[in-house]
Amino acid sequence: MLVNKPVVVVGAGLAGLSAANALARAGHRVVLAEAGDAHGGCCSTTAVDGFTFNNGAVYVAVPSLLRRGFARLGLDLDAELRLVAIADPIESHLEDGSVVHLASADTAWVDGPRAQSRTEILQHGLARLRRQWGPVYRTLVEDVLPHEPTLWRALLRLGRYLPRMRGHVDSLIEDCFPDPGVQAAVSAVLLYSGIAPERLPATQIIGLMALLEEGFHLPEGGMGAVTDALFRYLPRPDVDVRLGQAVRRIDVAGGRVRGVLLADGERIETQHVLATTSGFDVVRNLLPPGSIPRRLARICRDAPLSHRAVSIQLGCSGVAAPGAFIVNHVPAMAHQWRMHRRPSSAPDWLSWTVPTRVLPTLAGAGKSIVELYAPATGIDTAADWSPDMTDSAVRLHVEALRRRMPGLDIETMRVVDPRAFAGPRHLYEGALYGIAPGTAPNRLFPHRSGIPGLYLAGQTTFPGYGVSTAVWSGLQAVDAMLQDDRRRG
Ligand SMILES: Cc1cc2nc3c(=O)[nH]c(=O)nc-3n(C[C@H](O)[C@H](O)[C@H](O)COP(=O)(O)OP(=O)(O)OC[C@H]3O[C@@H](n4cnc5c(N)ncnc54)[C@H](O)[C@@H]3O)c2cc1C
Repeated sequence: MLVNKPVVVVGAGLAGLSAANALARAGHRVVLAEAGDAHGGCCSTTAVDGFTFNNGAVYVAVPSLLRRGFARLGLDLDAELRLVAIADPIESHLEDGSVVHLASADTAWVDGPRAQSRTEILQHGLARLRRQWGPVYRTLVEDVLPHEPTLWRALLRLGRYLPRMRGHVDSLIEDCFPDPGVQAAVSAVLLYSGIAPERLPATQIIGLMALLEEGFHLPEGGMGAVTDALFRYLPRPDVDVRLGQAVRRIDVAGGRVRGVLLADGERIETQHVLATTSGFDVVRNLLPPGSIPRRLARICRDAPLSHRAVSIQLGCSGVAAPGAFIVNHVPAMAHQWRMHRRPSSAPDWLSWTVPTRVLPTLAGAGKSIVELYAPATGIDTAADWSPDMTDSAVRLHVEALRRRMPGLDIETMRVVDPRAFAGPRHLYEGALYGIAPGTAPNRLFPHRSGIPGLYLAGQTTFPGYGVSTAVWSGLQAVDAMLQDDRRRG
């Protein structure tokens, strides 16, 4: 069945590409409008001087969910791309000189003082966490995240686990690991959240469970291989891809969607828009002010933005020494909040990734890529961030990195600060994950916007930020649209 007016999908990241594929396969014509010059959004790569840098996501967690999302589209993930399991995903260097290696529960180990007893504490604690949280993880991945969220579904599937979901990750970690050094290394796995362990909701231990249950993975060729596969699969000419075409306005009249206005002035008439750009952006910048449903206005006002950062990516020579993919130098768990604050001098505590440790071909022979995120705090809006702040963040963090890696020889540097994340990268206010990790699902933007014909997807909607989850947000928004159409006949 081909419907006359096209569905307009806003944004060609993971959510938009998944949605466009699902819609076309359901018989809809689609216009896929992407503001940037290329598809992929926060899951893409760019080659600079022979180095393949990520434009956002640095690894794939929960590959089973990604595989299942691809399968829903009729795609075999493993035939489209090669996911490489990261053999040595995380090493954390502690204040006493110990190094904690984290991978699976039974291969984790501690190197340094009291290595044997601390390795036992580590492995025992990880096994305990798996017993407590493994069932929650599997229920989430198999039964909750792939479905449109409803309170009943969540209560039915997760109700019995609710007591353990209260509190914060610090107490959970203290409870399982009676050694402060081991605690520091375990909580460091969740540094990517941008939230200190004492403020991070206990449910976010799922980030560690993802490592223990399924490991972390890199697609051969870099993170862009995931969105490249979805892009290749778009059926043409049913999907009309417009790159470099931002949607400037979503028209609403008579209480429903009527069309969109593109950056070049073209107006596309449509009764269906599926927007995968941030829900904040849709409400604040794309919809006519008088048309905003109360629920969207409330979420916009109350939902906490995720953290901001300066992305510093280095193309290097001479750092090919063996080591883990993620390297952390961390203080005690109670002090890790410092790693999320903008420092005034070169920080002692630092975290970076080396994608070339897993995929050497991302750089030339004998070369490496080092990526790190410097915290960008102390501002209210992305516009408050200044070039001086970027210079300072880069200077202090590169100095800190050189202290930790004396042989570092930087050939190329690419820096993206909050203004650039908000501007050319189109992330609302430069907030990396849109809405803060651990925010309750009812505070995310809904797939059904409340305006007939307008559907929302992407990382500010359920199931939230992440490579595998963003795909499902697109699929769920399409399901909601198709269901509503069927209901209306
Ligand atoms: C720095 C960073 C690191 C991350 N690390 C990880 C990680 O290691 N692992 C992980 O699983 N997840 C990670 N994430 C999260 C993950 O990358 C995202 O949640 C996911 O890629 C979001 O996909 P999306 O389709 O929702 O949004 P996006 O990828 O942001 O796609 C939205 C698209 O819409 C376009 N757009 C915006 N406004 C308009 C408009 N008006 N008109 C037309 N187009 C528009 C944008 O250009 C963009 O291409 C990271 C994110 C960031 C930013």
